[in-house]
Amino acid sequence: MAVRRIVYCGDPVLRRAARRVREIDDEVVELIRDLRETMLANSGLGLAAVQVGVPLAVAVVRPDLEGGEPIALINPEIAEEDGREEGKEGCLSLPTLSGIVVRPQRVLVSAMNVDGEEIEVEGEDLMARCLVHEFDHLRGTLFIDRVEPDSLYWMRPDEREESGYRMEETTIEEAEAAFERLRAQREDTG
Ligand code: ZN
Repeated sequence: MAVRRIVYCGDPVLRRAARRVREIDDEVVELIRDLRETMLANSGLGLAAVQVGVPLAVAVVRPDLEGGEPIALINPEIAEEDGREEGKEGCLSLPTLSGIVVRPQRVLVSAMNVDGEEIEVEGEDLMARCLVHEFDHLRGTLFIDRVEPDSLYWMRPDEREESGYRMEETTIEEAEAAFERLRAQREDTG
């Protein structure tokens, strides 16, 4: 098991459609274990394989905020969706960026689990948001593609604030440029 490095916005792997898994081999099993570990290490609610640079239709999600055993989704499809709900969203591939995205209030996702069994996962509110967000990743879509443009902001650490951070408005273009610089920096340092 290993915590893998999360790729940032600007990496082309995040913009390609992921391939369906044909066979759940050792590599896929290991990928799922690593996704779980990487998600938990980064306090994420979900993580798609493309976010660790693997273009396969695999994602993990946390069934609730408090923990619980993460659920692995292989070749997920959205079977049903109802309602619309606005909510705050962020992404481990766009660290410290946040904004408002309209998502379905409820979804039913069908997928395969790691044992190759058909499973259905239902989510409402935050869980629905999380499921659709991960599903989007497998189609090369990021939350900034769907964000209400005027709602995008950085969460800057700030000790003077009670919450420990302050919100700083930004635009999609500024944010993308910032992640591009972050990627370049990381490539320099290895
Ligand atoms: Zn994400």
